[in-house]
Amino acid sequence: MNDPGFLQKKTDQKRAHAAQKALKAWYLQHARALPWREMPSLYGTWLSEIMLQQTRVETGIPKWHAFRDRFPDVHTLAVASEEEVMKSWEGLGYYRRARLLHKAAKAIHEAGAFPDSHAGWLALPGIGPYTAAAIASIGLGEAVAAVDGNVQRVLSRWASIEEPVDAKPGAAHVQAVADAWLDTQNPGDHNQAVMELGALVCAPRNPSCEKCPLSDTCHAAGDPAMWRRLPVKTPKKKPQAWDLTWHVVTCRDHVAVVQRPETGVWATMWCFPEIPPPANFAKVGNLCEPVTHILTHKRITATFTLWQAPDPDALEAFARKHGGGLVTWPEFEARARPRLLTKVWDVLLRAHALGEVE
Ligand code: SF4
Repeated sequence: MNDPGFLQKKTDQKRAHAAQKALKAWYLQHARALPWREMPSLYGTWLSEIMLQQTRVETGIPKWHAFRDRFPDVHTLAVASEEEVMKSWEGLGYYRRARLLHKAAKAIHEAGAFPDSHAGWLALPGIGPYTAAAIASIGLGEAVAAVDGNVQRVLSRWASIEEPVDAKPGAAHVQAVADAWLDTQNPGDHNQAVMELGALVCAPRNPSCEKCPLSDTCHAAGDPAMWRRLPVKTPKKKPQAWDLTWHVVTCRDHVAVVQRPETGVWATMWCFPEIPPPANFAKVGNLCEPVTHILTHKRITATFTLWQAPDPDALEAFARKHGGGLVTWPEFEARARPRLLTKVWDVLLRAHALGEVE
């Protein structure tokens, strides 16, 4: 067993060794049959790790298959247009991940091969310490401990770590325990086992300690006060309120669209303009009730206001003035759009087609 100086007492080492053994036996029996485990490849592992960063496994599985069907290998992904990649990412949200995945694919394509170490993966765009460790251990067998939110929860409870795990000292403490626990002979399975235990057994609210292979060695086993307290996190800032009005400006079959800037929220995605059209355009009304949408640091209340342009030339001039253009509704649907837009898309289309406004 690795010992970076954390588990110095013999009793602690024994306890960690017992936990590692029990975890291994549990994982052999309980590992979920996930497609990237059943068809192992560096490309598939990398894709799954990026997709699952902010997405549930159930949502990730069909998207992983669809993405791989569209881009079967890293080279196909590298030569695809950004628009195609973003479109294929639709429904997963957090589009920055897709943009960085595409950038990394280009770097791998240029290098002619996947990185062959944890350090090599870490140097790619969009790959942080956790993702690099997960890919290097699962795909390359490198002995590095991967620490994600699930692992933080399991280890902070098991070792009774009372420092915030999202601040430096607490994160270092968790990493030290993870390093000490690591099964260096089988790091990929070991890392997946800890994450799997966090996902299936050591749940945030009601962990199933009675089913847990670590219950004999865990400080928090059967202790609801510790479950509630651990892992300790620094208090979150309240999300900023954002009252957003999207102007749905149309003429016959066409609607004005603009592309968002390369940085910031929904970078490079296609949306309706936020600036209202000039006074000679007729305001029709709102297409639906205001829609609430939550992003990591923002709570958005979106209003969709319908306008009629006096003629196609005026619509085009308005769209061009704001750096956009004209599309039909089906053409707009084929472009990469924010999740906020895709979730109300059918309602907007119906209201627009029927002329139903609030
Ligand atoms: S014993 Fe309970 S608290 Fe400890 S790791 Fe297992 S599920 Fe989590």
